[in-house]
Amino acid sequence: MRIELATEPGDPARPNEDYASVALPASGQGGSLVLLDGVTPPEGSVGCPHSVPWFTARLGGALGELSVSRRDMTLTEVLAVGITRTAEAHGSTCDLSHPRTPQATVVLVRWDEERVEHLVLSDSALLIAGRDGEVTAILDRRLAELPPAVQALRDQVRALPRGSAERDVAARAYSAAVEALRNAEDGFFTAASDPSAAGRAVTGELPRADVTAVAALTDG
Ligand SMILES: [Zn+2]
Repeated sequence: MRIELATEPGDPARPNEDYASVALPASGQGGSLVLLDGVTPPEGSVGCPHSVPWFTARLGGALGELSVSRRDMTLTEVLAVGITRTAEAHGSTCDLSHPRTPQATVVLVRWDEERVEHLVLSDSALLIAGRDGEVTAILDRRLAELPPAVQALRDQVRALPRGSAERDVAARAYSAAVEALRNAEDGFFTAASDPSAAGRAVTGELPRADVTAVAALTDG
């Protein structure tokens, strides 16, 4: 098996907040892949002094460990326990109910000789190649398929000239509309402090013999 990891910020002017790891616990035991894309909070966001890398290192570490040490747990359960464990690491000092508490997108894959299990939460992607070379994308489309009124706001922003005051006003309205849907019913979900978000992830399982390669991707 060949494994490659590569990471690069989406914008060179901003820090890279991705987390990636692969575990191969022992020969014949299969392995797991963890990929998180930390959600960058807006300037002036309050509620938690911990950084996004602080959060992703803890959540990613927990997912890597639990996915290979607790094969009795489903990936949804692994994510729920990982979120709880990370929340407990700062629950006594921070306001974890803040909508911009540190959070991340998640791709989690676990395999053994029999099967390949996968989980995707929010807008990172998992590609799975089959024996015939066909590639299937596993996506959580909630962020891409926001309600029509919010998509209309986005189209309005894009139609206005860059740098104009009108565009700034429209962009703020769009941003506020998206934020109102963050970890909210009928909106989109990230791994933050509420373990029930794990139940919103897109999950599935394939026979190991039907998978020749997987690729997990963030948008940088
Ligand atoms: Zn904190």
